[in-house]
Parts: sequence; structure tokens; C-alpha cells
Amino acid sequence: MMSLLERVQQFAQRHAESEQDFMAPLGAVIEHLYSATEGSINGRRTILVGTNNYLGLTFDNNCINACNHATRTYGTGTTGSRLANGSYAGHQELEDDLAKFYGVKHCIVFSTGYTANLGMITALVGKGDTIILDEHCHASIYDGCKLSGADVIHFRHNNAEDLDKRLRRLGDKASTTVIIVEGIYSMLGDRANLAEIAAIKQKYDALLLIDEAHSLGVLGDTGRGLAQEAQVEDQIDFITGTFSKSLAGIGGYCVSQHQELDVLRYMSRPYIFTASPSPGTIASTRAALEIIQTTPSLREQLWKNANYLYDNLKGMGYELSPEVSPVIAVNVGTPDNALNMWKKLFDRGIYVNLVMPPATPNSKCLLRCSVSAAHTSAQLDVVLDAFANLQSPRLNEKFA
Ligand code: PMP
Repeated sequence: MMSLLERVQQFAQRHAESEQDFMAPLGAVIEHLYSATEGSINGRRTILVGTNNYLGLTFDNNCINACNHATRTYGTGTTGSRLANGSYAGHQELEDDLAKFYGVKHCIVFSTGYTANLGMITALVGKGDTIILDEHCHASIYDGCKLSGADVIHFRHNNAEDLDKRLRRLGDKASTTVIIVEGIYSMLGDRANLAEIAAIKQKYDALLLIDEAHSLGVLGDTGRGLAQEAQVEDQIDFITGTFSKSLAGIGGYCVSQHQELDVLRYMSRPYIFTASPSPGTIASTRAALEIIQTTPSLREQLWKNANYLYDNLKGMGYELSPEVSPVIAVNVGTPDNALNMWKKLFDRGIYVNLVMPPATPNSKCLLRCSVSAAHTSAQLDVVLDAFANLQSPRLNEKFA
């Protein structure tokens, strides 16, 4: 039998073999940033189209000033967890801000979006309970499910009928089940069919948790996400999200109309046993949340940019994700083709995400573009020009 270290050595060898080809996509180092949408990689000025910086707030003056001020006032880090080492006033103020923004009373701030999902799922369900999640859910949700010890069932992506069938089969256990979906799915950029899913959760008296990581600041009249857009906020039990996309920081949260959320933090090991977010990141996140609420023009610009890129790529014959959103996934067939296309774009100074199986649904190879409100039309034209010049078969294969 292979020893544990031999297994790591085998991985290291495979990694070294593929590094030649994959180094750039997997380990791109941005040496310098010129703005939210441009940086230098391998000494070349590069347009960044793979950042999740949807509103382009990473260089916003208010966010930077708030971060600087908090760092000077409270220091660089909290050096511990909130339960063991105490909360800072900023943690509570951000929780109040988020609860107010969503029109609910309860919020927990976590250290990342990843730990928000881990923390909420493990606190809510355990052995003997059930989780039903959409098969396209993010790795943090899968990991939370695994860590919880609950029974885990997947339903077919966005297939409400399949969800209904699986809940029906659970009988009485449906009432100790949590359903988990996402606002905008991170790989293909499509939305959950939330109104149907919320109706099913009501029918079976289950709980519904939605991860709005990619939809906060992007969807809904005031940017609250898909639940707001679909007008089903009162039927959602828990919303999780991240500070690392529209809010341009790092951290995560859960908001809820249920007062039980307040106590769940004491049952959540991924909340208890990790350091709380630094004062600077809390302050910049508060400033970014304020901007989401006061500057709807950013969301309008984001959608203008997303539609422009999507429509033009589609017009060139590329096979795209089924819905327009700031996540635009170009389906490029084989891994070799994907890598070749990625490199050609990279050589022309364009950085998109190369996403391969097993990280992708249905074993697709994707060039995943994420659009920002901060992209200029000149930058988007450079990106489109590069796609137009790729020597690649235009695929007619349909997204499943
Ligand atoms: N949920 C989803 C849907 C995500 O795409 C991500 C990050 N890509 C996360 C959660 C984790 O967020 P964070 O980076 O804050 O850990």
C-alpha cells in the first residue's frame, strides 16, 4: 500500500508534469495592479476578466479610506476569534448594517464566504437530518454538507420537479431537511428558479438556504440578490454570502428573519474556531455596502457591460451559458482546446478563468469571464477582438 507521503509525492509529480502547461492559468501572479480591471502579469499589461469584482470597488476611495482609518484606529488584525478574544465594535456594526440592508433582524459575520457556508450548514443540521442541494452548488456547500454528518441528497440542477420528488420520498423527515441553492451559480452564471423552489419548501415545511455570493449587488431592485428579484424574500430562511465579490473585501455572512440565528453562532465551529475579520476589511466592507445602496448606477453599468459582452460573443457563434449574467462561461470543448484558447487570450493581454473538470458541471471545459461595472467599453472591445481572432472551432454543442 502507498504511504501517505508517497501519495503526496505522486501528486507532486503529476503537478510538476502539468505545471509546464497549466502554470499560467493556475498560478498567475499579478505583479502590479493599475485599476480594478487592469494589472501586470508576467510583465505584460493585462485586462482582468476573471476577478468577481462585479462593481469594481477594490480601488474605491471611500472603501480605501475606511480601511486605512480602521487600520490606524484598531490595528491590522483581531488576532483571534470573537468568542474567545472578543468582538470589535465594527463586527457588530457590520452585522447591523447587513441586517438592515436585508430588512431582517439577524446577522452573523464570518471570516470568509467559505466558512459562512460551513458554519451555517454544520450548525443547522447533523446526524439524522437531511440536506438537499442543487448539484451545481459551490464546493463550500459540499464541504459543509460533508462536515455536518447529515444525509446529503442532490437534486438535478434547477429541476424543481426532481426536488419535489426527493422531498416527497423523505416523508416525515422533510421537516428536518434544509434545501440549499445559489442565487447565481458560480460556474455557468445561471440563476436558481427560486420562486418554484420556495413554493416547494413551503409545501414540505423544510428550510431554505440560498447562497447569494455572486448575486449580492448584482440582482434585485436594491441589490439584495435573487431572492429580492424573485420577490420571495419572506420565504427564505437563511441567506449566506461573501464580502469577496461585489463588496471587494474578504469575509462572509448569514442573514435571517429567524431569531434562532443569534444563537446558531454558538453552535458553529467554523465561526468559533477561527480569527474574526480584520478591522480594515470590516470597515471597507461597510463602505462598499453603503455604495451598493446609494449608487444603483453601478449595477446598471454592470448589466450594460454583461449584456454587451454576452451578445457579442454569442454573435460570434460561441456557445455560452444559458442566461446573461456577469458570469459568462464560454464552453470550449476539450481540455486541449480550452488551454490553447486560454493561452492565446493570455498572450494578447487578457486574463479569464480557465475552468476544467472536476470543478465544472457536466465535465465542461470553460473560459469563464466575469464582467465588472468598472470595465470600460474600450477594454471590452479588446476582449471581444481577441475572442474574434481565436483560431478555434465554434462549438454548437448545447449546454445541458
Ligand atoms: N459561495 C460561492 C457560490 C462562491 O462562488 C464562493 C467563492 N468563489 C464562496 C461561496 C466562497 O466565498 P469566499 O471567497 O468568501 O470564501
